[in-house]
Amino acid sequence: MTEEKKLSIALIAHDKKKKDFVKLAVSYEEILKKHTLYSTGTTGQRIMEATDLAIHRFKSGPLGGDQQIGAYVSDNKIDMVIFLRDPLTAQPHEPDISALLRLCDVYEIPLATNLGSAELLLRGLDAGFLNWRAVAKETERKSIDI
Ligand code: PGA
Repeated sequence: MTEEKKLSIALIAHDKKKKDFVKLAVSYEEILKKHTLYSTGTTGQRIMEATDLAIHRFKSGPLGGDQQIGAYVSDNKIDMVIFLRDPLTAQPHEPDISALLRLCDVYEIPLATNLGSAELLLRGLDAGFLNWRAVAKETERKSIDI
């Protein structure tokens, strides 16, 4: 019997942060594999090359991938976002990045934008600290007003 995947996690890294993300994914593969994973195009490709993780890849970030993930966030289909941003390099798709980060705040989606907080989120995820997301989704599904 296949184990049911728990939560849906989006993984994104800017170019200069991709190596860091691959190391993070290798280190936390056992935790990540219990969940449904989404990513922008190149980030997902790099992670899949280095691990046995299966990832649903959207388009590359500059070609709309961040917006695709944003649409999933607004549809309540993403429970957590790890987005290793490069704060020292100008990005051509900066408006898309800001929009995604904004939507995470609009929908109260746990978001890590650097390695330090990413590790905390992953450990919290494994400890069950994000189980409220499953309840929140079920509540929305049933349209119960609490
Ligand atoms: P990429 O996109 O994973 O396709 O490189 C990430 C980004 O730049 O937003």
